[in-house]
Parts: sequence; C-alpha cells; structure tokens
Amino acid sequence: MSKPLLLRGGRVVTMDASRRVLDADVLIENGRIKSVGRTGGRADGRSKPTIIDCTGLVILPGLIQAHIHLCQTLFRGLADDLSLEAWLAQRIWPLEAAHTAASVHASAMLGAAELLLGGTTAILDMETVRHTGAAFAALESIGIRATAGKCLMDASSNPPSLRESTDAALSESADLCARWHGAADGRLRYCFAPRFAPSCTGALLRAVSDLAEKAAAVIHTHAAETPLELDTVKRETGHDEIAYLDSVGISGPRTALAHCVWVDTDGIARLARQETNVVHCPSSNLKLGSGLAPIPEMLAAGCRVAIGADGAPCNNRLDAFAEMRLAALLHKPRLGPETMPAAQVLELATLGGARALGLEAEIGSIEVGKCADLIVLDLGGPHAQPEEADLISRIVYSARAADVRHVIVDGRIVVRDGELKTGDVAEIRETANKEARRLRRAVGF
Ligand SMILES: [Zn+2]
Repeated sequence: MSKPLLLRGGRVVTMDASRRVLDADVLIENGRIKSVGRTGGRADGRSKPTIIDCTGLVILPGLIQAHIHLCQTLFRGLADDLSLEAWLAQRIWPLEAAHTAASVHASAMLGAAELLLGGTTAILDMETVRHTGAAFAALESIGIRATAGKCLMDASSNPPSLRESTDAALSESADLCARWHGAADGRLRYCFAPRFAPSCTGALLRAVSDLAEKAAAVIHTHAAETPLELDTVKRETGHDEIAYLDSVGISGPRTALAHCVWVDTDGIARLARQETNVVHCPSSNLKLGSGLAPIPEMLAAGCRVAIGADGAPCNNRLDAFAEMRLAALLHKPRLGPETMPAAQVLELATLGGARALGLEAEIGSIEVGKCADLIVLDLGGPHAQPEEADLISRIVYSARAADVRHVIVDGRIVVRDGELKTGDVAEIRETANKEARRLRRAVGF
C-alpha cells in the first residue's frame, strides 16, 4: 500500500469516451486512479496524500510510443543520412552485434531517461538479439511502463554476427517471456519481436504467432518500410508483405507493425479487417527517406494507429511531442490542411498506443480504475500562449518535451519538477558515453 497522491487544481485532459476536459483534482491510490473531480484537497482514505499543486498546469494521460529501440540509443548520430539498407548493414547491425550486457543496460537507461523526462510513460520496445535481460533490468529500475522483446533474426540472409538458429531464437524468447512478462507488478511485459519479414523464416514467424497467443503477449515487428523490402518479400514468398505476414499469423489486435509506408488499398483493408495495429513513425520515415505512410487513409478505413519515434539513430530524438506535431503536419500537403487534426493525433499518442500495447483497459486515458500513468505540463512558456487558445492545439502543435513538469507511472512519481527521480541523469549520461565509446572502438567508426 503506497501513500495516496493528489494532483490538485489542474486542467485535466481525460481522453475518456466523451473527451472531457475538466478542472479537477486527480486522486491516485495504490497505483490506480481513484477519483477525478473536486476533492476539496482531501483524500477519503485513512492516510493523508502527498499533494502536488497543479494550479495553472495541464494533466494529460502519459504519452505512449509503440515503436522504440532502446538498444540503439547509444548509436545516436552514428548513422545519419543513409538509406535504410545501408543504415542497417553498415551501421546498426555491426553496432548491435558489438553490444554487451553493460552497453545494452546503459542504452536502455539513457533512452528511458529521455522518454520519461519528455512525457512518454509507456513504450513498445524492440531490443537486439542478445542481452535483452539487461534491458529489462534497466526498465525495472527506471520505472517506465514497457513491453519489450528480444529481436529475432534466423534467416540465412542475416549477418552471421546476429543470426541465430530458429530454435535458439525461440527458446530464448520463451525464457525471457517466462521471466519478464508481468514483472514489476505488471508494469513490464514481454513481446515477441521478429526484426522484419526478410530477417525471419516462415517457420519462426508461425511459431512466434503461436507463442504470443499462448502467452497473451504482443507481436512487435516492422513492415512495408521500403519498396526494396516489399520486393524481397514478394520474391521470396510470392505475396505482398501484409498478406504474407497475415498468412503466417503476424496480424490481428495483438500485433503491432511499425511503419506500413508502402501499403496499397488492399493492404489497408486487410489491416483494418484484422484489427492489426499500425505504428506511425513520421520522423524515422522522413530521415531514412522511406516515404509517407498513408495514415489518413488507414484511419478512414478503421485501422488502429499508434505513433513512435523508432530508434535514436533514425530520428534522432525519442520525443513524443515531435512525433505528434509531425504526424499532424506531414499529411496536409497531400490531402489538405483538414487532414489529421490535433485531437485525432493526440488520440494516436494515447488511446492508440494503449491499444497497440494491448493495454487499452489499463492506460491511455484518465479514468477511475485505470493505472495512474499521467503527465503534468506547464504550458506557460511564450511558445504555448495565449492561454485561452484551444488546449489540444497547444498540446499537439505548440508544446515540447521540455514543458513536461511531472511524470507519474503506476502511481509513482518518476519525474518531479523536470527532474528524474528514479535515476541520476549525470551518472546515466557518463555511463552511456563510456559504453558508446567502447562500441565505436569495437566497430571501428
Ligand atoms: Zn524500428
């Protein structure tokens, strides 16, 4: 039983079914939202709550990013201005192969610190092939909500330094799932994470579908990011990629597909019908020159859509505010300025993310009974004024990560007054820099 927490006097953007915005207090008990409304500053329970004064501040559900690679945070700035294929083969795969448990841990701590300080409270994460346990240990200690998985690469086309046998890849996944799925009182969960179709055998993908079903775990992979990827899958399987993934069981509400840039009308209809989650990564798609995902068309067809920053080397920030702003702007030149209004984009970063993580009953909105994952924004800066402008517009178009004042995950204050409470940022930075130097020396660039 932890001490209750009262966020008093804020403007609350609930993201509930009627999208209410209220002047209300939010009372948190035992990691859950106990009440949303005026309490007169008092809690009902036996013990007096810790009070955070939110007068003049905005309370929002914690932002959710459904495609992140924490293992790549140390590679930031080491793989700029390359095509996806060169980016992977020349930079990312050699760096991932050089990871040790210590560098995976340092990379996760650095990334999670950035995410929490910027208002992201939950992520769907793809780690590398080895040392995924070290990433989970970091996630456990820093206090973010995370669904993470070991990257699976068993096809013969993979670099030998990362390729595993199908059996080895699956059995380590099953072990990690048994250890971490539901750990930290349910805050940590496991996902099965095939890298992308060309990296995996059909046998592995089918087995992943079965394992995920049995464990009630999410499947997290990439799809339809570049035309070259589509051609490869077509040549090897005879199918369009989305149809192929569906045929091996990588589809449905338990699946999150990052990117989906090159999806035609049939593919969109299939994604909508299967209720597969699409994760829009606008910065990554722009930086790698992958293209513009047909997100407005997907939303019109009824697809489930979330957002994500992808990894640090293809962004290079892990900033949900930057992704929201870009998601809102990116599609307007093609389809008109009415496309992707601010309120719809905020849904992707909250409710959409919750669905992609399979946690729509637990997170994504501020409602009684849900997990207490909330952020408190200070929109008092000149860039977010005047204060009577539409609040959702100010959040999506004007706000930035630096406006995040407090962050609460599972009822625990992880950021207070802009300061990380679950780790020492100077120490995290120092360790990250040391490990990044070692990785660079190991790969020779
Ligand atoms: Zn990715």
